[in-house]
Amino acid sequence: MTKILGESVATAEQMAAYLLSINPAPKISMEAKDFCQLYLDVAAKEGVRGDVLFAQSCKETGNFSFMGTVKANQNNFAGLGTTDKETPGATFPNEKTGILAQAQHAKAYATTEPLSCPCVDSRYGLLVKYGKAGTAQHWEELGGKWAVPGYDTKRYGSLDAADIAQDSYGYQIIRILKKILEFRKEEKAMRINVHAGHNADGRPACGAIGFLRESTEARRMKDAVIGMLRQLGHTVYDCTVDDAAGVSGNLSQIVGKCNAHEVDLDVSIHFNSGAGDASGNGNTTGTEAYVYSASSKAKAYAEKVCAAIAGLGFRNRGVKYSTGLYVLRNTKSPAVLVECCFVDDRDDAQLYDCQKMAKAIVYGITGQRVQEAGQPDAGQETVAPGEETAVGGKKQLYRVQVGAYAVKGNADATMAKLKAAGFDAIIVNA
Ligand SMILES: [Zn+2]
Repeated sequence: MTKILGESVATAEQMAAYLLSINPAPKISMEAKDFCQLYLDVAAKEGVRGDVLFAQSCKETGNFSFMGTVKANQNNFAGLGTTDKETPGATFPNEKTGILAQAQHAKAYATTEPLSCPCVDSRYGLLVKYGKAGTAQHWEELGGKWAVPGYDTKRYGSLDAADIAQDSYGYQIIRILKKILEFRKEEKAMRINVHAGHNADGRPACGAIGFLRESTEARRMKDAVIGMLRQLGHTVYDCTVDDAAGVSGNLSQIVGKCNAHEVDLDVSIHFNSGAGDASGNGNTTGTEAYVYSASSKAKAYAEKVCAAIAGLGFRNRGVKYSTGLYVLRNTKSPAVLVECCFVDDRDDAQLYDCQKMAKAIVYGITGQRVQEAGQPDAGQETVAPGEETAVGGKKQLYRVQVGAYAVKGNADATMAKLKAAGFDAIIVNA
């Protein structure tokens, strides 16, 4: 079964490709890809899987054709408050609010944990009042709950019968998700410069020191980020300088390395200081990113990196502009300087996890999720290194490889095709 809460697997590109293949003219106010990205971003705020939420909306709205009771101008993408054909149900002021209400309604079924955003789902309180909150952790359990009766009464005698046939409301949503994942995402490899700020620790002109040591953590971070970006198939240059003579020497050498490569983006990794929260007041001071100006091509990346780090629980101080920072002023490609979090805030230091933050930075830059090493998906099989014969000796095995993918959704899609064709396929972390 598929959990309601969690990270999306499908990308906005895959979701849009699916929608447009069925309905080339969906009644939405923006490009399909931007609309799908809105689903991913808004749902993530409540910790809900935006790709499945979108699949649910495809089902509820007739792939955004709105031929049923609910009309497009209601921005109600999952029949909230629509109890029969004569009741059009809730109306939301814009698409974003409608999606948020849908995400909050899904979250209410999945957990009794409070909402992250102010409540815009007018029926949220009813779910809580009638003890429905936290009664369905999986999409497949929503039949008879979100949708009543939640199955085709002409085909099945009961909800149980439809569940057994895997054809009730939630199963139908997951079928749509599987079709979305069969669309291949265009994988455009990026070229990226990454460096850690300042000289290395122990040298003159090293970074800030608090609970964390900036120079050391920035180097761990750039190593993790570079490793993940390369794992996803991107070309990355490490432009870190460890031992220059002083601050200006360090900066000019970094820029020299950066400008030696033609790249899409320069990424400068720093940690902030000045919070002065030694005892820990329970709140992080948080993350921020600098770009040269509001018209910098790096601005969109900066916003996504901040949002992704904020998703880990850090306060989002947002994107700032500075024409005074040497690296931003002198690099020839779009550049972003990330201040991951504060070294001198006990709360920041406690929440900080290098791997998780690196993963967030990589997601912000590429929109791609990296599987952390040694942590395969729950329930996913890992490969046995060699099959044992009955007498204990190793048989020679020959594997057949079909493809290697930077995006897990594409691997899933290929595996689904193989299984449909009768092969017993598994996914291996390469
Ligand atoms: Zn710094």
